[in-house]
Amino acid sequence: MKQYILCALLAAACFCAAAQPAPVFNRSPLAGTEYAALPIGAVAPEGWLLDQLQRMRDGLTGHLDEVYANCVGDRNAWLGGDGDTWERGPYWVDGLLPLAYILKDPMLIAKAKKWADAIITLQHEDGNIGNTVDRPEELGIQRDRALDPWPRMVALKILKQYYEATGDERVLSTLKAYFRFQLSDLPKNRLDKYSNWGKWRVSDNLDTVYWLYNLTGESFLLELGELLYSQAIPFTEMFQDPDGLLPYHFYHCVNLGQGLKTPVIHWQYSLDPREKEAPKKALEHIRHTTGIPTGLWAGDEKVHFGDPTCGSELCTAVETMYSAEEMLRVTGDIFWADYLERVAFNALPTQSTDDFMGKQYFQQLNQIAVTRGSRNFVNDNDASMLVYGDMSGYACCTCNQHQGWPKFTRNLWYVSRDGGLAAFVYAPCRVNATVRGGIAVEIREETAYPFREDICFTVNFAGKKVKSAAFPLSLRIPAWCKGAEVRIAGQEPLKAEAGSIVRLDRVWKKGEQVILHLPMEITTAQWYDQAIAVERGPLLYALRMEENWTRKSFTPEEQKIYGEGYWEVTSPSPWNYCFSLKTLEEKDCFRFEELPLEGAYPWNLEHAPVRILARANRLLGWEEYRGNTGPVAYWRWGPAGVKETGAEETVVLIPYGCTTLRISEFPIRP
Ligand SMILES: [Zn+2]
Repeated sequence: MKQYILCALLAAACFCAAAQPAPVFNRSPLAGTEYAALPIGAVAPEGWLLDQLQRMRDGLTGHLDEVYANCVGDRNAWLGGDGDTWERGPYWVDGLLPLAYILKDPMLIAKAKKWADAIITLQHEDGNIGNTVDRPEELGIQRDRALDPWPRMVALKILKQYYEATGDERVLSTLKAYFRFQLSDLPKNRLDKYSNWGKWRVSDNLDTVYWLYNLTGESFLLELGELLYSQAIPFTEMFQDPDGLLPYHFYHCVNLGQGLKTPVIHWQYSLDPREKEAPKKALEHIRHTTGIPTGLWAGDEKVHFGDPTCGSELCTAVETMYSAEEMLRVTGDIFWADYLERVAFNALPTQSTDDFMGKQYFQQLNQIAVTRGSRNFVNDNDASMLVYGDMSGYACCTCNQHQGWPKFTRNLWYVSRDGGLAAFVYAPCRVNATVRGGIAVEIREETAYPFREDICFTVNFAGKKVKSAAFPLSLRIPAWCKGAEVRIAGQEPLKAEAGSIVRLDRVWKKGEQVILHLPMEITTAQWYDQAIAVERGPLLYALRMEENWTRKSFTPEEQKIYGEGYWEVTSPSPWNYCFSLKTLEEKDCFRFEELPLEGAYPWNLEHAPVRILARANRLLGWEEYRGNTGPVAYWRWGPAGVKETGAEETVVLIPYGCTTLRISEFPIRP
């Protein structure tokens, strides 16, 4: 059997962590993937990304067991306690664990390892994992459905990552026993016996099954893969049918984010090209129906047509990012890198407070007041769905948000089958890996991307004697980028085509630098009812509004579920701006300005490192309605009423991810 493991080339573990396992490529008959993930910790964040992860360490990710002790503390059933049996504890650790090993933080590692150890040591004799006894519900903790395979799928992600960080061999035997249990149990007790979640979210289960197969080569795992897939939602058919994704089918926004990757994960076994392309087909349909400019879709408990006042759940952002990361690695299709950046740099940063102690359950594209009270979409908790708090809204996001940035960090680099390295997603970092000929390489990636256009890679070698080495370095040119250049000292700049991979297979000298120049142009795109969104490179821009943050308390009764308090955000700034069609056609409608990079944290009003000055008009009569921007015709052609718009003004747009209150879909007038 032909193996796609680069044993000879990569057997030497990377020099930064000797115990870590080597990257693993697909084993036959699975599709021969070109790229493989590096061990967790091989990519170390720097610059703004390091600052972000440190905020998570000091914020909720590092302290959720204290803040939400009654659920993810020592009483949690996954730790052997009498408490919660459901997804929340595993959700948290699914993000805590990679954060801990990326930052190499002993305190966080101890917290994460406790969960991995418990999942392993508490495994049942029949191979099942986790608590199997229903318990009465209290304190809003979900304790029933103890046999549901769904929360176990999250636990599988934890074990896989724990192995990828440490090489702890116990993971392999635990997973093997659990998968044998699933093979005998699922024909009797289907994925959807206890809840609907499993059949929507089975790709996380399937992904881990194939991962173990690549390590062990045991054929029962492929058999289990087919069994799991046969009980899943038929995503491929759903994604190929233009009607399949419309809101009247009533499906949950997060399930779509998680399920998006299912056809691609299964394609590795089926090799059916329809499955490989199905998620892209889905996004084409979504773009013109439920889609919103952050790359996601309007959705709460169900999906809606993409009105910019509809909500978008934080779990959708992080789960969709994970789906994009998996599809990028499996297919090597850089479409998914562009897509990942769109979600990561726009949807993700705005939904957390700067100190990472508060999150927002739902965000709105046009969001003019983050206050308590109902909005015009479905939700679990009218009272606090928009405000920022540790527990406000619904606690799935409190626990699940942590996987976003750590997994993004890990996926900045892959090893390639040709013995090289590939950078497909960009952020400041440093990668340590072994390349062709067993050479240990360190590449430093210095950049303020996505706020700047240049990325500088500096190649170094771990061994003092190594002065040069030949290996390919693959870089992504985003589809939005015209006029990209690759610059190496002493050589003619290399022009690179938008949407391509530049493969630099050459001898690299110690200390040699490559500068990737990615020019960004201001563009506009039409969205809901032909409203206009303004973009530049990977960033969506939105109207800058002043923010007044007010801390408030929940009532004693509410505090039992939603924590002590929350932040409301309001603004005195006018927001009802539109663009005139005539002005949009003029060259100076938008003027880009670079601002100084002050401090490491760019994702707020004070530190937004770029802005666009735009010529806009107030749209008179566009007023607030129940806390939202009121109903309006986003597009109007023909002669405008004389008084419909005010005089032209210059307004400031900043990156959407830096805003809390904003307009990001603007009406158009003649
Ligand atoms: Zn959630």
